[in-house]
Amino acid sequence: MQRTFAIIKPDAVQKQYAGRILARIEAVGFTVRALRMIHMSKAEAEGFYHVHRERPFFGGLTDFMSSGPCIVLCLEAADAIKKWRDLMGATDPAKAADGTLRKEFGASIDNNATHGSDAPETAAFELGYFFRGMELR
Ligand code: ATP
Ligand code: MG
Repeated sequence: MQRTFAIIKPDAVQKQYAGRILARIEAVGFTVRALRMIHMSKAEAEGFYHVHRERPFFGGLTDFMSSGPCIVLCLEAADAIKKWRDLMGATDPAKAADGTLRKEFGASIDNNATHGSDAPETAAFELGYFFRGMELR
């Protein structure tokens, strides 16, 4: 079993897609190990996305991620990192395959509904950034 870190981003929470996204998460066989609604500060969003700090979209991305509440999750499954990225689809909803969450719930590359860790090291960093050990038993 593997764990990954996921976010239902502020756009999807604001549009009331969270319930449908959680149903899809459960339908494909993930176990939800931890879940919390948070509203990140700008500084917290900058810390989370620090790998992108040199990118031209960093300011807009961290404004967006701190614009409203989001739902942070620890998801467990066999090959969870790849399984969750496959369910999310491509970063740009316009390029995401039919049946993926970003195709169904994303509006644009900036408002793309969900986040997922891209490797075991980033999953470990991201889970530790948002959850305390006692929340992740
Ligand atoms: P995420 O990390 O959110 O799961 P991802 O791994 O598919 O998405 P990254 O390359 O890590 O994509 O980019 C992080 C986020 O930055 C994307 O989800 C997207 O909202 C935004 N982003 C990425 N590339 C661009 C771009 N060219 N223009 C605007 N926003 C972008
Ligand atoms: Mg990423």
